[in-house]
Amino acid sequence: MSSLFIIIRPTGSLFAQCDHYSPNVTIIHPKEPLFTQRNHYSPYGKKNNQIKIIQSYFRSNYFMVFTYYGHSCFAATHQGITILFDPFISGNSLAKSINIDEIHADYIFLSHGHADHVLDAEGIALRTGAKVVCSYEIHEWLNEKGVSNTHPMNTGGRWNFGLFNAKCVVAQHSSGLPDGSYGGNPMGFIITFNDYCFYFSGDTALTLDMQLIPKWAKLNTAILPIGDNFTMGYEDAIVAADFIQCNQIIGAHFDTFGYIKIDHDQVRSAFLSTGKQIKLPAIGEQFDL
Ligand SMILES: [Zn+2]
Repeated sequence: MSSLFIIIRPTGSLFAQCDHYSPNVTIIHPKEPLFTQRNHYSPYGKKNNQIKIIQSYFRSNYFMVFTYYGHSCFAATHQGITILFDPFISGNSLAKSINIDEIHADYIFLSHGHADHVLDAEGIALRTGAKVVCSYEIHEWLNEKGVSNTHPMNTGGRWNFGLFNAKCVVAQHSSGLPDGSYGGNPMGFIITFNDYCFYFSGDTALTLDMQLIPKWAKLNTAILPIGDNFTMGYEDAIVAADFIQCNQIIGAHFDTFGYIKIDHDQVRSAFLSTGKQIKLPAIGEQFDL
């Protein structure tokens, strides 16, 4: 019985290398379309599903894989861990294509208590058993609802969760919970793995506090609100990108309601003109940066 060896090549040419390996070796490039690899490299076509699973696993080992669920809800998967941010799906008419029951999470981070950020946190936490990281006040609110796997934090604090650590940073916003309870401070999070670091700002205005972030982290990418009205708009987000010294931005908190509809072309060209990249993901889109 032959064994299956997997070689991952995140960069470089597969074509030049493949001849050097025996027929028992399957070369999987995490970003190549699977069928191309099967046709050209793999003697294990029948094991396509198995290879696909392995490919997906290794892809998230090399890259930070983001999935956008609409509004400010993202999943970030890396090194086998999925962190879900601000789940608001069932109340988002634009996110009808998303099946909440299929969303996996090991951790759920909540930036603040507003319904458009916590609406589906309780349901997903109870189904998945994910640990919910949030303000102390939201942690108590969730505990009363029977969500007991929670971790309270507050701005300024950092905690090591094992494969990554999270630092809570200031967000300029408000944070009442849907039933009128006090939600504590709104906050953003800097998530640091050993090889990748990103900032999820939560709902916030542009604030000088963002200038502190480069003292704590060298960011690979940042998720910033750009919808204006309730948070900063795209022009302030461009300034925020300078403050946090990160030119690779993912837009959030746009288009969901009439107040925050944006002109995508205008936003893209404004970022481009300053040498920065803005990703405006489609709902359900999975991508890595
Ligand atoms: Zn919001």
